[in-house]
Amino acid sequence: MILSKLLLIVVSIGFTLQFAVAQQQTYVMAIHGGAGTILKKNMTDSLEAAYKDGLKQALLAGHRVLQQEGGNSLDAVEAAVKVLEENPLFNAGKGAVFTHDGKNELDAAIMDGKTLSAGAVAGITNVKSPIEAARAVMQHSPHVMMVGAGAEQFAKEQGLEIVDPSYFYTKERWQGLQKARALDSLATQLDHDEQSSIPEVYKDYKYGTVGAVAVDRAGNLAAATSTGGMTNKRYGRVGDAPITGAGNYADNKTVAVSCTGWGEFFIRSVAAYDVAARMQYGGLSIAAAATAVIKKIGDLGGDGGLIAINQNGEVAMPFNTAGMYRGTIKADGTVDIQIYK
Ligand code: ASP
Repeated sequence: MILSKLLLIVVSIGFTLQFAVAQQQTYVMAIHGGAGTILKKNMTDSLEAAYKDGLKQALLAGHRVLQQEGGNSLDAVEAAVKVLEENPLFNAGKGAVFTHDGKNELDAAIMDGKTLSAGAVAGITNVKSPIEAARAVMQHSPHVMMVGAGAEQFAKEQGLEIVDPSYFYTKERWQGLQKARALDSLATQLDHDEQSSIPEVYKDYKYGTVGAVAVDRAGNLAAATSTGGMTNKRYGRVGDAPITGAGNYADNKTVAVSCTGWGEFFIRSVAAYDVAARMQYGGLSIAAAATAVIKKIGDLGGDGGLIAINQNGEVAMPFNTAGMYRGTIKADGTVDIQIYK
């Protein structure tokens, strides 16, 4: 009798363990390629196909990592973001937007949800992959964030690929800067009342920041974000992307988040961390927490979106702009890519 009871207990523990292991094996990745006034009517079929293909290549790069035995979410998000940095369609790495002075100043951040380690760089101009630089800061320095010339020197010492700043140039982004400069001078010509509507134009000064969040087979979360920031930015302006907790965050206890949009509002809202906080302290679901944060950004007058993932592989991707380039890939390789609302 006692023996059969014991046997039952052992068998049921076995089942529970098996179930837990089976549950942990979910690995999922979500990515974004920026939020903004992305309208179907302004898009040609071939451009839309190019964006979708770019997103797909990034998802596949991340998935290749997650698929492997021991493949971890940090390597996956870095791999996905690197693909997007190399794609000139997106505002990160090659194809980054220009500053007022005609330069490309790049920002990136990465975070490990298991250890809460984080690394970030801001205002760098000659490191081919800013996300690699952020990862190096996290793993090979006692610091979390490095900026400008110092960050570039560190990246060089770490053996990362250094390029001539002209590598980041694209004609489209250069033309975007000329348009923004023209709008700026128009703004200074307008009288005070008319100027109050000018901030609206800033909404179109950013597009195509990239980011990735993932959960791996071990249940570890990670987030990575990389951007050129906002077109026509001045005075060493830095947005939310490289600020841990604002544009990028990961904690195994709750969620991994990567944001895109009007960075000043995401910084003021501590947006990425706010998703985690609403889940941890408020008991909100990932969907409710993520939606509430984007609503708050909207209430403040900002716009943008975010991607979020938890250990169960649940994904939330709210945004309050016309569109957000986004996609997911599940363990079985199912890819879902969306652009518009
Ligand atoms: N959040 C970025 C920034 O403000 C821009 C973007 O997401 O497109 O620098």
